[in-house]
Amino acid sequence: MAGMTKSVGKTDIVEVVASAKETKSMLKIWLDGRLVDKDEAKVSVFDHGLLYGDGCFEGIRVYSGRIFKFRSHLERLFRSAEKLRLKPAYTIDEIDRATRETVTVNELTDAYIRLVLTRGFGDLGLNPFNCPTSGTIIIADKIQLYPPEFYETGVAVVVADRPRIPIKCLDPSVKSLNYLNSILAKTEAIEAGVLEAIMLNTDGYVSECTGDNLFFIKDGVVYTPPTDSGILHGITRQFVIDDIAPACGLEVQEKMVRIDEVLAADEVFLTGTAAEIIGVTKIDETVISGGKVGPITRSFNEEFRRRVAADAPED
Ligand code: PMP
Repeated sequence: MAGMTKSVGKTDIVEVVASAKETKSMLKIWLDGRLVDKDEAKVSVFDHGLLYGDGCFEGIRVYSGRIFKFRSHLERLFRSAEKLRLKPAYTIDEIDRATRETVTVNELTDAYIRLVLTRGFGDLGLNPFNCPTSGTIIIADKIQLYPPEFYETGVAVVVADRPRIPIKCLDPSVKSLNYLNSILAKTEAIEAGVLEAIMLNTDGYVSECTGDNLFFIKDGVVYTPPTDSGILHGITRQFVIDDIAPACGLEVQEKMVRIDEVLAADEVFLTGTAAEIIGVTKIDETVISGGKVGPITRSFNEEFRRRVAADAPED
């Protein structure tokens, strides 16, 4: 192990230098009020986040040092917590400051942030109120991007057999730590050899994908399933509705649709923090947009990149 010396000699010096370097560059994690080395960032096996998926989280991007739509993400995190009746241990402003500190201390300018609120340490029973203090985790790390060709050529997706969990069972607008509904649908995508799976709600209407929202374009009109179709209220989705589409001279209409309407679309694209805006060129066996990324999707993508490249909005 680097830094552990068995004998004194030339090699020992190299090892010690390597160790100092490692320590310096060891990722720091913000855990319950303290910045700790990645190796020390551990949670209890009695944390209900682990035992029951009881908690909520956010995935956020940093573009050139600016935390994209940070306020919206923080507000969504606190909304999720409220719906779970989870009391965050820190205020929204404290988490804001701690997140910025975590990004700075790790010297990151283009990064991915994961904010996690867990129910906290409790007993083996389900009762969340037996967990006196919720846990707070802030991870900021380098971002792993999708291959650039995904944006050039578009991606294939499937329609999942598994429906989206209904709002009255576990509202998909809560970004909870229990992602099993998405994970099992994602398994269908992986087994089909594609990136994503479109999920229908239990009434058979299109909702969203396992980790992305869905848009489609027909005769120059942009549509997306409404929030009451049972979706995560995507920050990227809202940015497309509020900023990107209008900047391209278009308006987005929210519409409850069956999958047939999406299959007959001129263009389909997905939005998400990781994916940004990514064109869909095939759904199951149906080729979309002649198998190419359509012109409106391209213009939206260009507009998105332009806006995050310089002075990405943090509100
Ligand atoms: N839907 C689901 C189920 C998600 O997990 C995500 C985030 N990965 C999205 C949509 C997109 O949301 P956002 O734009 O806020 O990342």
